Amino acid sequence: MQPGLCQLFLVLYGLWMVTARPSEDAAAASPPDDFPSLPPILHPGYFSPDYKGNMIPGLVSSWSPNDPTNVWELSGLREGDIMEDGPKSRNVVSDPESLWADATIPYILEPMFTDAERKTIREGMEMIQKDTCFKFRPFRIGDMDFVYIQGGPTGCWSYVGRQGGGQVVNLQRAGCVYKGVVAHELLHAAGFFHQQSAADRDEYVFVNYTNIQSGRESNFDKYNESVVSDFGVGYDYGSVMHYSRKAFSKNGEDTLVPLKDGAEIGNRDSVTDKDMAKLKAKYGCSEGSEVTEAPSNYGTMMFEAGNQLLSLFVAPPN
Ligand SMILES: [Zn+2]
Repeated sequence: MQPGLCQLFLVLYGLWMVTARPSEDAAAASPPDDFPSLPPILHPGYFSPDYKGNMIPGLVSSWSPNDPTNVWELSGLREGDIMEDGPKSRNVVSDPESLWADATIPYILEPMFTDAERKTIREGMEMIQKDTCFKFRPFRIGDMDFVYIQGGPTGCWSYVGRQGGGQVVNLQRAGCVYKGVVAHELLHAAGFFHQQSAADRDEYVFVNYTNIQSGRESNFDKYNESVVSDFGVGYDYGSVMHYSRKAFSKNGEDTLVPLKDGAEIGNRDSVTDKDMAKLKAKYGCSEGSEVTEAPSNYGTMMFEAGNQLLSLFVAPPN
């Protein structure tokens, strides 16, 4: 192998991490010369200069499923967990180009995840897939668009919709690997925004701006119907895509109050029938199937991070 190529096989778990963490799996394996190079991850995530990278991992890892907030509200990005490539206008998810071909997301799970974590991630996929046509399947050589699921210490986050090429979904190993959280982030990748962003949300929830942290008000923006369509399914208090009552609260008081008596918001455990009805409508199909993990997700993957070209070697199965 050429010396330059050797350097490219430097294994970094997390594209922007300051410290590389060698993995026994990857360090022990050396890719054969004829290993295929996987397509570049064109959308590895972007963190603005004011991103609080020294605080977010701790906030997320100390989160408990019994907390009043949802963990994805803690990741320090737009609306908490919506990743963008830079300070530009938001993605136009109404664009048909943002849909995944054949209602299918090819995925690669970063090798650092344990078997138990991989099982939980697949359970999150299964929740989405079992009653819908939408599918997750392991990356195959030849796929151009795919999701790379990594466990870096930057919280839980995803882009909204298909970006073109590889795009990262981050599930911080401490704090984000719960099946409901997995489903939430993958529904972002499938093209969904948060439920309370809907144009008609003021008919369903009261946004109490007096309790919102200063500077976080824009996290409660509404989008017009061309961006956030409910496909006639209607508002869903129970949606796994809905903020909690105390999202971005500065004082422990509610920032979002359901207008309907007895309505519960802040589900972080499972998708709802309405979540799935919207997914089916978006992709125009209904039948379900099981999630599989085939042994084909290996190769080398190139990343551009800042001025550096990095590579991650995804080990082959034993
Ligand atoms: Zn989210």
